Amino acid sequence: MNFDYHVHTHHSVDAESPMAEMVAAALRAGLRGIAFTDHLEWYQDDDATGYLSLERYFAELREVQAKYGQQIQLLAGLEMGSSHRFLPQARALLAAWPWDYILGSIHWVAGLPGWEPVAFAEGLELAYQRYFEELVLLAEEGEYDVLAHFDLVQRDAWTLCGRTLPIAPYKPLIHRVLKAVIARGKGLEINTSPWSMGLEDPAPGLTILRWYRELGGEILVLGSDAHRPDRVGQHFARARELALAAGFTRLARFKNRTVVDWVLL
Ligand SMILES: [Zn+2]
Ligand SMILES: [Zn+2]
Repeated sequence: MNFDYHVHTHHSVDAESPMAEMVAAALRAGLRGIAFTDHLEWYQDDDATGYLSLERYFAELREVQAKYGQQIQLLAGLEMGSSHRFLPQARALLAAWPWDYILGSIHWVAGLPGWEPVAFAEGLELAYQRYFEELVLLAEEGEYDVLAHFDLVQRDAWTLCGRTLPIAPYKPLIHRVLKAVIARGKGLEINTSPWSMGLEDPAPGLTILRWYRELGGEILVLGSDAHRPDRVGQHFARARELALAAGFTRLARFKNRTVVDWVLL
C-alpha cells in the first residue's frame, strides 16, 4: 500500500525532478518506500537510448539514501524496455550493478514506437494483437521482476485514437503472458497513471487482475509511473480497492530483486 514501485527522475529523458524531490514528495504522501525506475531502452530511435548514466544514477542514489535512508526505503530500480530483444546487453547490465527491482516494459511493438500513430496505422485490432504478442515474448524470455503497465496499448489507443477496445479477444495471449509470469516467479503492478489521463481502468484493470489471481498469481505491487513529484503515490487508495476486488489480500515488497516481505491490503 505505502510503497510506490514506479517512479521516474531526471535520469529519465521524459522527467526533470532530482531524486530528492521525488523522495520529498513520497514522504509528503506518507509512503514508506519508493523504487526509482528510470527508463532504459536499446532501440536506436528511442530518445531514452543512451540517456541514462548509471554512474550518475547510483551516485545520486547513494546521496539520497544517506540523507533519507532512516525515513524511507529507496530501491535501485529500472524500467527496462524490450529486454527480450536485447538479452546479452540486459544480462550484462543487470549483473554489473546492485539492483533491487526491475520493471519490464513494452514501449516498442514489432519494431515500431507504440506511442506513435504509426503503431496504429493498420487499425486498433492489429495494434492490440501485436502489442500482446510482443508482451508474450517479454514475459516468456525477457529479464524483469514485474511487468510494467500490462496493457499499455490501451493508454496509447486512448491518447492517439480516443477509444479503447474490449480485451476479451486477446484473452488467449494474455493468459500466455500471465502463465509465464507466474511460472517464472515474476509479478504485476497496478499502474495508476491511466486514471490520471481519463481512462476508466488502470493498467491492468480488474479483468486482467482477476485472470492473474485465478491462475494463481500472487506477486502484485502498486506503481504511479510518476514523472513529476505531485504524481507520486497517486490513486493508491483506489488501486487498493481494485486489488481487493480482484481477490488479492497482500502486496509484495522487493529488495535485491526478490520478494522479501508481504504487506496486507
Ligand atoms: Zn513505461
Ligand atoms: Zn514508467
